[in-house]
Amino acid sequence: MTADYHIHTKMCGHATGELEEYLAVAAKQGLAEIGFSDHLPLYFLPPERRPAGYAMTEAELCGYVDAVLRVRENSPVLVKLGVEADFVPGYEAQLKKLLEAYPFDYVIGSVHFIDGWSFDNHEEIGGYSRWDIGELYERYFALVRQAALSGLFDIMAHPDLIKKFNYMPPGDLTQLYEETVLTFKKAGVCVEVNTAGLRCPVREIYPAPGFLAAAYRHGLPVTLGSDAHHPQITGAGLDRAVALIKTTGYLEIATFERRSRTLRNVD
Ligand SMILES: [Zn+2]
Ligand SMILES: [Zn+2]
Repeated sequence: MTADYHIHTKMCGHATGELEEYLAVAAKQGLAEIGFSDHLPLYFLPPERRPAGYAMTEAELCGYVDAVLRVRENSPVLVKLGVEADFVPGYEAQLKKLLEAYPFDYVIGSVHFIDGWSFDNHEEIGGYSRWDIGELYERYFALVRQAALSGLFDIMAHPDLIKKFNYMPPGDLTQLYEETVLTFKKAGVCVEVNTAGLRCPVREIYPAPGFLAAAYRHGLPVTLGSDAHHPQITGAGLDRAVALIKTTGYLEIATFERRSRTLRNVD
C-alpha cells in the first residue's frame, strides 16, 4: 500500500482545494490511504500577532477537524485526521493542550522557524546571508532534535527542510544526521519522507539519502508525504519516494490511527 500523510487544504489559508478534491485525486492515483495535515494555529504567538494565511485560527481548527471526520465517512480512500504542528521551544504546554483537544490520528512535528525567522519562506530568503551555513545547520538540527524529544509528535516532517533553497554547508553531514537519527530513535518518532523538496530549488526529497540510510540502520519507521497545497499535487513524487525507501532497504511504511502506529508493506 501507499499512503500520502502530508496534505494541506484551503483551510490553512495558503493552499487551495476542498477536501473532496484531494480525495478525488487520491482515488484516481490508487492511493490506499491519505491523511490531511493542515497547519495547527500559531499557538506560540498572541492571537493578534498571528499572520494571516499561514495557519488556521483556533476558531477554525474545530471546523477543520469536523470536516475531515465528515468527509471520511463516505470516502473511497481511507482518510486519517492529521495535523502539522510547528515546534517552538518554550511553548510545549500550550501545544500539548491544543493537541489533546482533538482526536488526531497523528501529529507531524515541524521546524519552520529559527528564533522567529521563517527560513523556508522565500520572502525571507535574505536571512541566510546573516548566518554561517554550517552553524545554521547545527542550530536547525538541534531544534529538530528538541522537537522530537518533546514527545508531542509522531512523525518528524521534512527532516532536512533547511536545505530547501540549496544553501549547503561545506563538508560532510554524516555526523549531524547520525546524531539526529539517534535522537529520533530515543524519542520514538517516525521520519517523514517528503517529496516537496523535489519541487523546490534543492530538487531533492527530504530527507537526503544519507539521512534516510542512517534512519534505516537504526530501525526508524518512515511515512510518506507529498506536502500538497493543491489537489493536483496529491501523491506527487510518491513513486520516487517509494523507490528511494526501497533502495535504502525499507519494506514497510508506518500508518496511524488515534496516534497508534502500524507498519504496512509498501508497494
Ligand atoms: Zn512543513
Ligand atoms: Zn506541510
